[in-house]
Amino acid sequence: MSKRNPETDAIRTQTRHTDQREHSTPLFMTSSFVFDSADHARALFANEMEGNVYSRYSNPNVDEFVQKMCQLEEAPAGVATASGMSAIFSSLAGLLEQGDHVLACRSLFGSSHQILNGILPKWGIDYSYGNIDTPEEWESLINDNTRVLFLETPSNPGLDLIDLEWAGQLAEAHGLIMIVDNCFATPCLQKPMAYGADISLHSATKFIDGQGRGIGGVVVGKERYIDEISFFTRHSGPALSPFNAWMFSKSLETLPVRMERHCENALALAAFLEEQPKVEWVKYPFLPSHPQYELAQKQMKKGGGVVSFNISGGYEAAKQFLDKLNTLSLSANLGDTRTIATHPASTTHSKLTDEERAAVNITPGMVRIAVGLESIEDIQEDIGQALR
Ligand SMILES: *Cc1c(COP(=O)(O)O)cnc(C)c1O
Repeated sequence: MSKRNPETDAIRTQTRHTDQREHSTPLFMTSSFVFDSADHARALFANEMEGNVYSRYSNPNVDEFVQKMCQLEEAPAGVATASGMSAIFSSLAGLLEQGDHVLACRSLFGSSHQILNGILPKWGIDYSYGNIDTPEEWESLINDNTRVLFLETPSNPGLDLIDLEWAGQLAEAHGLIMIVDNCFATPCLQKPMAYGADISLHSATKFIDGQGRGIGGVVVGKERYIDEISFFTRHSGPALSPFNAWMFSKSLETLPVRMERHCENALALAAFLEEQPKVEWVKYPFLPSHPQYELAQKQMKKGGGVVSFNISGGYEAAKQFLDKLNTLSLSANLGDTRTIATHPASTTHSKLTDEERAAVNITPGMVRIAVGLESIEDIQEDIGQALR
C-alpha cells in the first residue's frame, strides 16, 4: 500500500477489533488481562512475546492513542501519561541524573517552572533560563553538565516564538536532548522533530481532547529516549486511564478539522482586536504585526488557537472587561470548543514575581483568549460589547 497521509492514518487506525464487527474502537476498561496458560504468563513476563498484562504497562486504548499521536507527529515511538505535567515530569525524571543541568526557555508553562525550580533541585538537577528575545545569550548558559534543552513555542501567554531550526542546531552542536512542549501548536501546525527535536510532548487536556473533558498527556520521540521515559512511567505509575485514552483517540480523528477552525477564528479575532480603540496591542503569530511573523510562517502551518492582547487601563480595565463578557467563559483552560478568556497575571501566572512576569511580557492589562469553535461573529460581538 502506498504511504497514506498522517491525517488519514489518525482517522483510520484501529489497533483492536472484537468479534462484534464494531466500527469504532471499543473501550477496554480493564486493569489486567488473563493468560491462556501458565506458560503464556511466564513468556509474557519474560518479554519472550508481546501482549497486555496490566494496564499500568499497556492497554489497547492507550496504545491506539499513542500510535495515532506518533503518526501525526511523524515520530517513531511514544508513551501516554495521566496529565500534561506527568508527560513533562516523566520526560525530565526519566532522562536526567543527579548533577545534570537543563537549559529552558523562561516563558514556560507555570507548573513546568515549579518542576525546574522546586522539584528537580531536590535530586541535584539544576537549570538555567534563556530569554526568548536574546537567543544569542543561550550558548553561554550551556555548561559541561547540560543535558536537556527544554522549549515551548509558541509561548504561553505571550505567543512569542523560538526558532526551532536554530534550537535544533544549538542542541546538536552541544549534544543536548531537545524537548519541545508542542501543546499550543499541536502536530497539525508544527512538527518539532522535523527541526531536530528529540522529543515532542503535549498536554492532551488541551486541543487534543479539544472538548474540555479530560486530563491526559503524551510524549513522542526517538526510541531510545522513549524507552527510558516509559521505564520511568511504568514503574512510577502516571498511567493514562483507558477511558481518557479512548476519548483522546476519537478526538484525534477530528483534530485537523478542529485546528483549521480554531486558527481561522483566532486570526479573524486578532484582526478585529487590532481595530478596537481600547486595545493597546495584539499578539498572534499569524498577524503581520507580530515581530516574528516570518518565523511563524516558516515553522507553523497556521497561527494556532490563542490570541493575547493588552487593554489600556491595566488590571482594573481587564477586570471590567472580563466581568462584562456574556458568551465567553472565564476559565484557565484552553483548547476547548468554547472560547475562554483568562487574565494571566492574576491567575495562571500569579505565582511569578512582578519582575518574572515582566521578563516574559505578562502585563497587568493582558488578556488571553483561547478561541473556540463558535461562530466568529458571536465571539467578536461579545468581546466588542465588553470592551465598550
Ligand atoms: C496545560 C499545559 C500543560 C500541563 O498539562 P496538564 O494536562 O494540565 O497537566 C503543560 N504545558 C502547556 C503548554 C500547557 O498548556
